[in-house]
Amino acid sequence: MAASWVPVPAGSGFPLENLPYGVMSRPDGAHIGVAIGDSIFDAHAASRAGLFPDSFLSAALRAASLNELLGLGREAWTDLRSRLQHLLGSSSPIAPEDRANFIVPRASARVIMPFEVRDYVDFYSSLEHATNLGKIMRPGTEPLLPNWRRLPVGYHGRAGTVVVDGTPIVRPRGQIKQGSGEPQFAPTAMLDIELEVGFVTGRGNVLGEPIPIDRAREHIFGLVLVNDWSARDIQAWEYQPLGPFLGKSFATSISPWVVTLDALEPYRTAPPKQDPAPLAYLHAAQDWNYDIALEVALRTKKMRTENASAEIISRSNFKYLYWTMVQQLAHATSNGATVSAGDLFASGTISGAAPDSYGSLIELTWRGTKPLKLAAGEERRFLEDGDEVTLSGDCEAPGKPKIGFGSVRGAIMPVERPRSG
Ligand code: CA
Repeated sequence: MAASWVPVPAGSGFPLENLPYGVMSRPDGAHIGVAIGDSIFDAHAASRAGLFPDSFLSAALRAASLNELLGLGREAWTDLRSRLQHLLGSSSPIAPEDRANFIVPRASARVIMPFEVRDYVDFYSSLEHATNLGKIMRPGTEPLLPNWRRLPVGYHGRAGTVVVDGTPIVRPRGQIKQGSGEPQFAPTAMLDIELEVGFVTGRGNVLGEPIPIDRAREHIFGLVLVNDWSARDIQAWEYQPLGPFLGKSFATSISPWVVTLDALEPYRTAPPKQDPAPLAYLHAAQDWNYDIALEVALRTKKMRTENASAEIISRSNFKYLYWTMVQQLAHATSNGATVSAGDLFASGTISGAAPDSYGSLIELTWRGTKPLKLAAGEERRFLEDGDEVTLSGDCEAPGKPKIGFGSVRGAIMPVERPRSG
């Protein structure tokens, strides 16, 4: 592990080799920061102190979100990464007596949305998840629809309701139709999570000019964890024939630290074999999956009352995805549609082959027919009020620096909660 003058505890997912970007709220406004060890390097303060002489980099680091930095493009990102590693490394030009001016303890910082989400797309790229959902939603038929192995299926979601780690999730109400009865307007009884990872785009393309797959990497800045909260009963009634709408749009949570592709490079790996071979515009010359271990932890109200720790209910991995990020981006622009700095593209629920690697409760409990038995004696089919869900992700392998994503947490609030203000 490369040495930094900022203490990095053993086992930290935020060594000098990671340096993920986020935004924190400070007394004088929003500051872009970089996570290292248990600290945040205040890049905004460092820019004001003249530590980034280039005007364009310096200005981007003083913005209130990452969007301007995202728009600078891959060369600037890689240049900034090496400058940050130099500033934070053992031969830093920052005088030892000045260093404390740029460091904020992570535990006391209030992190906010790292970038303004300009557009939001959610894919459906896990073969195991799509197969499981097909079996659950359309029993007795072929679980995978004929297009699934030919293109990365996705839908356009709601950018304005993407929220950061820690934001409470109010149980949504909607139209629900049970069996042959009349539809009712009621709080969802099937509130679910979806374990996902999303990529954030940088500089976009020109309208009418698709991004070729072998150029896609230049447009991808980094990744965050995504929890695509889902109301399965609302979804089941509304989704045919146009796909997800209000069953998904009430909230989508992301982790606060954007981990760059440069930091993830040691963990790049091959995707599963694709059969049939994709069409030429979806054929990538290189391997573009990443080995990122993912976990879902649940802490119920009872567990919190009894001071019990959260229980891990699923372990999955980003590398299980059938369709890769570069295929998703090439496909999303293949009709000439534009992407721009700050677009978020989520992977879709990431399930593995084993039942304890499923990335949603509808799969883990098979639509509530096999409730999860929690260690403290409780059962769950779907989320109850007061339940808190945390997704976390880490890359770890012998001889390689650990690259962490941190986590994204959200607790379920009852629909009838009193409104403040
Ligand atoms: Ca989803």
